[in-house]
Amino acid sequence: MSVVRTVQQIRNAVTRLRSAGRSIALVPTMGALHAGHTSLIDAARRDAHAVVVSIFVNPTQFGPSEDFDAYPRAADADVEVCRKHAVDAVFAPSASAIYPPVDETRVRVGPLAATMCGRGRPGHFDGVCTVVAKLFAIVRPDAAYFGQKDAQQAVIIRRMASDLFLPPRIVVCPIVRGPDGLAMSSRNRFLTPDQRQQAVSLFAALGAGRDRIQQGERRAGVIVSHMARLLRAAGTCDVEYIVVVDPGTLRDVSDIHAPVLLALAVKIGSARLIDNLLVE
Ligand code: AMP
Repeated sequence: MSVVRTVQQIRNAVTRLRSAGRSIALVPTMGALHAGHTSLIDAARRDAHAVVVSIFVNPTQFGPSEDFDAYPRAADADVEVCRKHAVDAVFAPSASAIYPPVDETRVRVGPLAATMCGRGRPGHFDGVCTVVAKLFAIVRPDAAYFGQKDAQQAVIIRRMASDLFLPPRIVVCPIVRGPDGLAMSSRNRFLTPDQRQQAVSLFAALGAGRDRIQQGERRAGVIVSHMARLLRAAGTCDVEYIVVVDPGTLRDVSDIHAPVLLALAVKIGSARLIDNLLVE
């Protein structure tokens, strides 16, 4: 497994893999790897690709008051995880390799970024799409793997790839959860044991919302209020949003007659956590 930091080095590594007849999958991450990330790596391997994992805490997707400096970094452990999961190449560039001093071009996302996480994090998805477009151009993968955990991100990346005619096939993999239902996240390590207990209420609220829909409730407003009540009862008062949206367009749904995405963002202590559930 090669572990490289420069654009030229990863291009050379990819060229070697290609000349051995392999197709290339890219798994973009911000590191502090966990079972959610490795599920993407394993899926890419199962699809018979050589796997390139990028590890880059992307500064342009963090707002000025967000946790860029505090974001967990675990470079050595991440390399070990990649080795265990038979990754072919790790690309861990410096910020200046991706954003050299002359850099000034950005991808700008449209209305898909104006809802859900985009409301509280202006510019976040522009930063995400900019770095993903750069990684696509550097690695030139045949396929790129993302998690449904970041449901809005997955929809926006698909939109960008389609709008900009970017070649890789976009593959979105299911959410990996702990035994208690909490979705794996690098930010979970900010939680104290008590807060982690409280965080289980996210999935519980989503599950309760789904149950109400499956019992016949069609009013999205009622579902949202029900979920909000459950979060409050669990002590989770700092709710950023709870939405019932169309899974493809992310537009708010008021009467539920087709599959919907239930999604939420809350703050527990210093950790901002998101989760979602597709209700067929
Ligand atoms: P991150 O390092 O948080 O930027 O995540 C990198 C990729 O891993 C993104 O495509 C995420 O959606 C995905 N991911 C993160 N957590 C999970 C999870 N619990 N299950 C599935 N995919 C995940």
